[in-house]
Amino acid sequence: MDQTICKACNTPGLKRFLELGDIPPVNAFLHPDELKNEKAYPLNLAYCPNCMLAQLEEIVPPEKLFEEYLHLSASSAANLSHLKEVAELLNDRFKITSETKILEIGSNDGSLLAFLKPFTAHVLGIDPAKNLIPLSKEKGVETLPIFFNAKRAEQLKNERGTFDFIIGLNVIPHTPNVVDLLKGVHTLLSPKGTLIMEGVYALETVLKGEFDTIYHEHVYTFSLYALKKTFAQAGLAIVDVERIPQQGGSLRVYAQRDEESKRESEAVTALLKHEHENGWLNPETYDNVSVKVNNYKKRLREIVDIEKKKGKLIGVGAPARGVVILNYCGLTAEDIKYIVDDTHLKHGRLTPGVAIPVKSWDALSAEKSPVFLLLSWNYKASLLPRLKERFPGSRVIIPFPELEVVKLD
Ligand SMILES: [Zn+2]
Repeated sequence: MDQTICKACNTPGLKRFLELGDIPPVNAFLHPDELKNEKAYPLNLAYCPNCMLAQLEEIVPPEKLFEEYLHLSASSAANLSHLKEVAELLNDRFKITSETKILEIGSNDGSLLAFLKPFTAHVLGIDPAKNLIPLSKEKGVETLPIFFNAKRAEQLKNERGTFDFIIGLNVIPHTPNVVDLLKGVHTLLSPKGTLIMEGVYALETVLKGEFDTIYHEHVYTFSLYALKKTFAQAGLAIVDVERIPQQGGSLRVYAQRDEESKRESEAVTALLKHEHENGWLNPETYDNVSVKVNNYKKRLREIVDIEKKKGKLIGVGAPARGVVILNYCGLTAEDIKYIVDDTHLKHGRLTPGVAIPVKSWDALSAEKSPVFLLLSWNYKASLLPRLKERFPGSRVIIPFPELEVVKLD
């Protein structure tokens, strides 16, 4: 694939605006004996001068990233409650009946579809991560272990017909051939059906210098302007949009088949205007990102060097975004002794690239007065009280949205 051509609209001349260096796949947590085979890939972000879609220049083949996927929907209470909200929202807004057919692309361990099952039995998941299949089966959710694309969609339509709702949370960012995926959605969507998608919103993340949503799995970062152009290529029209707080700032879009959709909502018009006014179409906006991110790296390094003298520095949460921060800022086991995380599949493994051990929260019972780096900063509201309960008065470095150190008084 030519790295200088837009992956969505095929326009040549992508403009590179952020270089994060060579980083290994951030979800590939390693057993200690796997370290020597670890591979790193360049992480450079560019935007398309035509559709303005922010995208990685170089793509790591998805099969190298997703065969064993350690992020479980059910592993975080905050994520589960988000999925429950999505299920309830769907029912409140669209009145799901026992006849409603729902397809989820990237259904992970089936958590969202399990929340929808009380409303309708007609739910189907698709997810290529084979290790997750038994987990969705336990929840009574049928899942096909395949990569979704336009060709698969044709087969699926023959076997199962069309769907009233197709859901894809954080799917577009993970799909290099995004137009092909959306064409598949078009094939499988019933004439009056609705596509609901969520993804990280560039204006609230990378364009503000929050670079930790940039990793190999995230080929694209959303803006409404770019999405509208991309969806149109597959015959889909965005009819409504909401800004939601997930992952530091995301968009939820509703789309329908172009030939069926009425006009776009006021929210769509208003957000397109907002993006225009906030420089989404100006090259200077992108040029500034690199400066912000470089300065951030220096400041975090300084803070870590100061804080690690005050107590043993322990990471809290080992999400993909945290692995990006560690790698880009060069924080290793010299700085952070270990990381605690709720995902049992990560315990006993090392973080990609910087080889920091991951343990369960039980490890903290051996500590006297540690200092923390909150890598899962987007779950601050639930994690800080847990830390405060065990270590009142302790200090926590919070990397984003503002880099700061708080004391848990
Ligand atoms: Zn483009």
